Amino acid sequence: MPNFSGKRIMVIGGSRGIGAAIVKAYAAEGGDVLFTYAGSREAAEALAKSTGARAIHSDAAVRDSLVAAVRDAGPIDIFVYNAGLLVAGDPLTLDPDAIDRMIDVNIRGAYHASVEAARAMPDGGRILIIGSVNGDRMPFAGLAGYAMTKSALQGMARGLARDFGARGITVNVIQPGPTDTDMNPANGPLADQMHSVMAIREHGTSEDVASLTLYLSGPAARGITGAMHTIDGGFGA
Ligand code: NDP
Repeated sequence: MPNFSGKRIMVIGGSRGIGAAIVKAYAAEGGDVLFTYAGSREAAEALAKSTGARAIHSDAAVRDSLVAAVRDAGPIDIFVYNAGLLVAGDPLTLDPDAIDRMIDVNIRGAYHASVEAARAMPDGGRILIIGSVNGDRMPFAGLAGYAMTKSALQGMARGLARDFGARGITVNVIQPGPTDTDMNPANGPLADQMHSVMAIREHGTSEDVASLTLYLSGPAARGITGAMHTIDGGFGA
């Protein structure tokens, strides 16, 4: 793993799951880490205490609060947008407000926060967005809205890679498959269905996703940009 001493790193949505694993991994490699949370204050405070990272309360669905949190962080070397919601069900009966909140967190927040992070980012910086293999493949009913949000991130990353490439800033999407978290527990009711379409029939871990994130943040990845990096046990194969 690269060492991140002297690097300021911000993770949007870092209190639990994949985001928390990413916070821990950067902190373990010497990074100066800030992360945001919305609902999980206790988890965020515990993570801050155990890692030395700084926890900031900011709802990623509220643009002004999110942009202010990013701006107030000062120049960020590595920016990770992990916050995400999953709203599943019959599109004919799902609450449209829940779908709109998911769009706010998964797409609008990712765009506005990434642009704000790039504003003061030093040359050679990194922007990493946690998308999903569902941006490429959606083999189950009930997840059209979620898949839509994750596909949108692909176009965003390709475009921002062009916008910021002259400064040596890379923009990439990491696309996990089923990963054992509160959002998608390895022993949840849909686990068998998910495993049935995978080459490696088990959930991945948040630490797996964090490892890929750190690799893409390091100096060896300076030529990787505008790309999707799938880590899904063959879900999309
Ligand atoms: P969890 O539900 O376990 O954790 C979600 C994290 O996002 C929490 O830290 C939560 O913070 C934060 N978050 C959610 N909404 C907001 C918000 N409005 N403002 C700030 N933070 C917010 O999910 P995962 O760890 O599983 O998922 C992380 C990312 O990975 C998501 O983008 C998800 O779509 C993606 N992903 C997950 C997969 C999986 O199988 N687990 C597969 C593919 C992609 P808080 O609790 O403090 O609000």
